[in-house]
Amino acid sequence: MSLSALPPGSANGLLCQRSCHSGQHPSHQIRVTRYADRVTADQVLLAAPRGFCAGVEMAIKALATMVRTFPPPVYCYHEIVHNREVVRRFEEQGVVFVDSIDDVPQGSPIMLSAHGSAPEVVADAETTGSFTVNSVCPLVTKVHHEVRVRVGKGFRVIYVGHEGHEEAVGTMAVAPDAIDRVESIEDVAALPDFNEPLALLAQTTLSHRDWSDVAEAAKERFPEMWTPGRSDLCFATTNRQSALLSFVDRCDAMVVIGSPNSSNTLALAKLAAESGCDQVLRINGAHELPDELHGVVGVTAGASAPEELVSAVIAKLAPTNGVEEVRVVDEDEYFPPPPPIRDLLTALASAASVTIGGPTISSIGADRHVGASEVLAKLV
Ligand code: SF4
Repeated sequence: MSLSALPPGSANGLLCQRSCHSGQHPSHQIRVTRYADRVTADQVLLAAPRGFCAGVEMAIKALATMVRTFPPPVYCYHEIVHNREVVRRFEEQGVVFVDSIDDVPQGSPIMLSAHGSAPEVVADAETTGSFTVNSVCPLVTKVHHEVRVRVGKGFRVIYVGHEGHEEAVGTMAVAPDAIDRVESIEDVAALPDFNEPLALLAQTTLSHRDWSDVAEAAKERFPEMWTPGRSDLCFATTNRQSALLSFVDRCDAMVVIGSPNSSNTLALAKLAAESGCDQVLRINGAHELPDELHGVVGVTAGASAPEELVSAVIAKLAPTNGVEEVRVVDEDEYFPPPPPIRDLLTALASAASVTIGGPTISSIGADRHVGASEVLAKLV
């Protein structure tokens, strides 16, 4: 399967017309090589942005650097990102994923996942590890910081988040005695009255509708409650949801690629269903597509799903009338590597370049120009 730039009118390919709400992008055409094993949809509408966000890019490249630098096993607390294929690829490279730092032998290299970890987990990892890297997304760190600041000022935090999700668990652990988690209007109604001033914070990967319904109920119940100037929903979550909403009403079916434990993936699927799409399929990969899928099929991917999964899905759909990419915004956010990885890259660059499966990240400056999908595809 290949999605490659071709001159307009090239033979043997299905044409892709890219559209953009800003009107800044020229139309272009890409070739979709057909597979024998295909579903044959009429057309695919492909969301942009989709797939890897800046936080996931940063975490995957950081773990790849660890894998290339240290002999196995490298330990990772929780799945580095919520995608089964990404995790499998790292397991093949000798990464051992654990749910407790107690399972990590003293003196081992440890990475903490992108979702953020409880403060005591970070402390334990720093005591246990020979080289410890916290690859928490900076936008999750921002919410942790806000919890600390608000609670330090005497507030109680009402936190909108999914029960048991690793990001929510890590955030609530920042001030466990001063946070109440809610995820529905009923949860808000069931809260007791509070004597302290209240602040409203949220998990970064919620569906915008889930967030706004609960936030409105909380503000109605507690009118004096402090809320941040902007919600905690991150740019990647918001952009992927906006892209889907921009064309879901044109689709007979919507395919959302991502793992069932990926909150932003589930939010995309839920949004498509709530928007009235008749058939919404949340799949791990092309092998889970049904044998028949007709009409216009929308395709998007959660923030931890690699682009190679998207390519395989389009190949299997084999749309008769090609692929139209619908872009609502350009996403050029970049998060530099966590500080220990920056130090490692700097130290190693002076002795020898660090090669990550082909692309070479030999300096901090080069890191920006190497994509995690590329690193992952060549991680062998
Ligand atoms: Fe960070 Fe948002 Fe990506 Fe989560 S989805 S890793 S919060 S950018």
